[in-house]
Amino acid sequence: MKHTKIGATVGPSCQEKSILKEMVKSGMNFARLNFSHGTYDNHALLIKNIREVEEETNEPLAIMQDLQGPKIRLGILPEDGVELKTGEEVALDTSLTEYKKDILPLTFPGLEKFIQSGERILINDGRVEIKVEKIEGSKIYGKVIEGGVVTSHKGFNFPETKLSIPALSDKDKEDLKFGVKAGVDIVALSFVTNAKDILDLKFLIKQYEEESGINNEQPIRIIAKIERHEAVDNIKEILDVADGIMVARGDLGLEMPAEELPLVQKKLIDAANGAAKPVIVATQMLDSMQNNRRPTRAEVSDVANAVIDHADALLLTNETASGKYPALTVKTMHDIILATEKSTYDDANLPKGQRPDTDLAITKISRILAEEVEAKLILAASISGETGRLISRVRPELSILVATNSDRSRRQLNLSWGIRPFILPFCRTIEELVERSINYIKKEKIAKNGDKMIIVAGEPVGQAGNVNLVEVREIK
Ligand code: PEP
Repeated sequence: MKHTKIGATVGPSCQEKSILKEMVKSGMNFARLNFSHGTYDNHALLIKNIREVEEETNEPLAIMQDLQGPKIRLGILPEDGVELKTGEEVALDTSLTEYKKDILPLTFPGLEKFIQSGERILINDGRVEIKVEKIEGSKIYGKVIEGGVVTSHKGFNFPETKLSIPALSDKDKEDLKFGVKAGVDIVALSFVTNAKDILDLKFLIKQYEEESGINNEQPIRIIAKIERHEAVDNIKEILDVADGIMVARGDLGLEMPAEELPLVQKKLIDAANGAAKPVIVATQMLDSMQNNRRPTRAEVSDVANAVIDHADALLLTNETASGKYPALTVKTMHDIILATEKSTYDDANLPKGQRPDTDLAITKISRILAEEVEAKLILAASISGETGRLISRVRPELSILVATNSDRSRRQLNLSWGIRPFILPFCRTIEELVERSINYIKKEKIAKNGDKMIIVAGEPVGQAGNVNLVEVREIK
């Protein structure tokens, strides 16, 4: 089994249960719903289908609601778009919603306050570039540096501008209310700048849960999408409060010089690994498979390198949401991951932490012991999933079986490298945990009589902050 997890964005190409099932069989571990697109009816249907596929395959499938965030877009343009010619002067107006007398509508009132002359503005995934020359009232004037045709609702990026805007728009709040009621397991927040954005989201989730009378002991987990240059600078404070991060390379590659992206990816993965929080690498991983049955060599290398960088999970976006071959794309990613993990290139050194750190010491010992006695698996119990994530951080090259009594924790754990979560009623003692888990281990053919396993626990079993014991056991 592979260690690195696969997330797939679900959309029109894979809304049918038969295709979703095929994707799960091919190695998909969690589903992302992109709230930049689709209607609530559509999302509700996808959620229903994902839950049914989870039930039918007995594979945990976390649902990640990806909130659009304050993506700044063009307003309404003539049907054929507007051609901006290189070298031409251009005007944008933040008070317009529709194209008027050669002026482009920029649908974010007040944005002109943050923009300075000399800064670059990118439109449509960076294909069109404008250099700002002057600002007058709500109008921004500039020169087209890289021309092209722009159409309605295309997105903007402001790589040189210090934007101080909240990460949650009114649309995001409505969408979040829907997601909370629908029981999503994870919320990914776009265009995060700092820790406050995450804390605001946590507060709102609590408020919406209370309003809807929802009381799930395991909270919705929050993934901060790192796609603004400020977020890269603030990664430490963001990791302190978020439950994980996504290296959202689509926008990040525009918000900062693209040539810096590979190193920023490594730096962000290192930071998340150090904090024992899952990190997902996203966007254009197998982009050409939207239309082709085979990826390019460069894409294969990109997937392999993200595994070698020690990402917890890789995320497919348009390839599975609207591409022609969603299940084949998952299978292709799965095969690249497996081939890479067989090598030593992805092996990780034991992390060095600040002393004293009992959790880190115990989990490091569990990996060393597993290697020394050639164990088949590490077994732990974790109600919240925290112990599982702590073991995953030390990257032991064997299955990490994590017993939990919560469906939501089981799903959420499926984002973390190497973890095989399974449901087990709450165990008070280590004996109970071992005895009951052995049934599961044998049934799933993960190990057989005579094989060794490493137990990581404390008593009562499964509670956070209680890990203080490592043991070698033989399976009988
Ligand atoms: C990205 O920018 O890489 C990303 C995953 O976000 P979105 O698809 O919402 O733009």
